[in-house]
Amino acid sequence: MKIFSGHTPWHPTSLLAVLALWLATVGNLPFWMAIWKLPETQGWRAVSTMGSLWVILLALLVWFLCLWAWPRWLKPAGLAMLLTVTSSSYFMLTYGVVIDSSMLANVAQTDVREVRDLLSLPMAAALVMGVLLPGLWFWRQPVRAVAAKPLILRQLGVALLAFLVALGVFWMSFQDIASLTRNHKPLRYMINPFNSVYGLTRLAVGQAAQAAQPLQAIGEDANLRALPTSEATAPLVVVVLGETARAANFGLGGYARDTTPQLRQLQTQGDLVYFSDVKSCGTSTQASVPCMFSHLDKAAYEGNKERFESVLDVLQRAGLAVLWLDNQSGCKGVCDRVPNVSTTALNVPEFCKDGECLDEVMLHELPKQLEALDPAKRAKGTVVVMHQMGSHGPAYYKRSPAAMKTFQPECNSHALQNCPPEQIVNAYDNSILYTDHFIAKTVKWLQGQSRPTALMYVSDHGESLGEKGLYLHGMPYSMAPKEQIHVPMLVWLSKPMQRQRSWNISCLRDQSNKALSHDNLFHSMLGLTQVSTGLAKPELDLFSACSPAR
Ligand SMILES: [Zn+2]
Repeated sequence: MKIFSGHTPWHPTSLLAVLALWLATVGNLPFWMAIWKLPETQGWRAVSTMGSLWVILLALLVWFLCLWAWPRWLKPAGLAMLLTVTSSSYFMLTYGVVIDSSMLANVAQTDVREVRDLLSLPMAAALVMGVLLPGLWFWRQPVRAVAAKPLILRQLGVALLAFLVALGVFWMSFQDIASLTRNHKPLRYMINPFNSVYGLTRLAVGQAAQAAQPLQAIGEDANLRALPTSEATAPLVVVVLGETARAANFGLGGYARDTTPQLRQLQTQGDLVYFSDVKSCGTSTQASVPCMFSHLDKAAYEGNKERFESVLDVLQRAGLAVLWLDNQSGCKGVCDRVPNVSTTALNVPEFCKDGECLDEVMLHELPKQLEALDPAKRAKGTVVVMHQMGSHGPAYYKRSPAAMKTFQPECNSHALQNCPPEQIVNAYDNSILYTDHFIAKTVKWLQGQSRPTALMYVSDHGESLGEKGLYLHGMPYSMAPKEQIHVPMLVWLSKPMQRQRSWNISCLRDQSNKALSHDNLFHSMLGLTQVSTGLAKPELDLFSACSPAR
């Protein structure tokens, strides 16, 4: 047997077939496990369905590899394949995620801090078993030199044959497979390495097409409805962009635990309204943030190939001073043309450790950063977005300071699989408790200002904490559980703001149980800052109900 001799050189196409065999079998462990667990695949039915799927997958892998893995780069290509399937298998098995273009966009946008949070001992073990050991074996195999022409003929011939086999078996078991993928959509995104190849291609094509588009200005007619008479009456509006906070664990939203005691107090005082039925645009930061600040609604945003400015450009054009403070991995293009500051560069020892800061660092920096804005614009009004670290996982325990860990014991590992579920929830709830503290502290600071002030908070997407075996976020929207898309949102208005606008907060309270979404943010920001433009849609503006003049 050639496999065991180790000395007889392999024909390149045979070694390629061995690689395909590994990828189809071990490299697709999560896929096989998911099918095995399905209620409709039991007994002989399971054996026959899985058998045909295995043959199809193997044949497709042979076809795919034969087309491009030529001897010159056969070995690096093999290692790349092993790395791709092992890491995607690891994340599928550990967090219940699936691999699609938006998940890969997250990966591409991830910064060093986030990668560090994901590294763990189980991950290292997976890399050793799935990449290092098989990779070493693969790399050391001697390969026979074959003349180009017969090699090309053979490889193309094998590719064609493999494709026909895949097609034939698919034809024969069409009914089984079609009903399986129809009833269990996530399965489609679990097939290694085609999920990654498909996702990456879609992502690259989409991004290239969009990057080639010129940036289009929006709201060129934007202006302020009423100019303040002096800087003392110029409003200051703060938008807190939450991170990974889900409505299900928000005290104000009816969660059994009081994770928002300070906000509840503000609500009792009568100046804060919580919106209980808000849906996110996406299930990841990368998908949600640009969509939230876009003038397009979710459907139009997703179908759109053009490149547009964001609401911040419109506010700035209307004459307002705009600032983006970021304690996250960036604003995803939304704040590119307005003053923006990332906290990582600031390194404030009181709040930052190892290049990661608690959200209060933004409030600490706020007065200084406001001073630095253009005074002429400030005299007309100021809008600040503070982009939180919030409840970003899996290292939830890092998202709250030691003094604020009410819920114990807390999972203090970023390998969530090492923790009992209730400890994961404890760590997550502590992060919500800290967000409660951060928002309330910001409100208190705003209350200390003599000018009219307001705060609006909304989270970018939710999170799975183990429900249905899912963790983290980023599921394709159509199959995402509600935990990942039902987000908390609230508005607080200072008394001077309510007086200046002649707004009675009950106009917001009346809408608190209405079905709302991220689509409302763009238009509500225009309403809150009194910017008028032809783009505005009053029916999506929460504040339009407050203005008797309209
Ligand atoms: Zn996010």
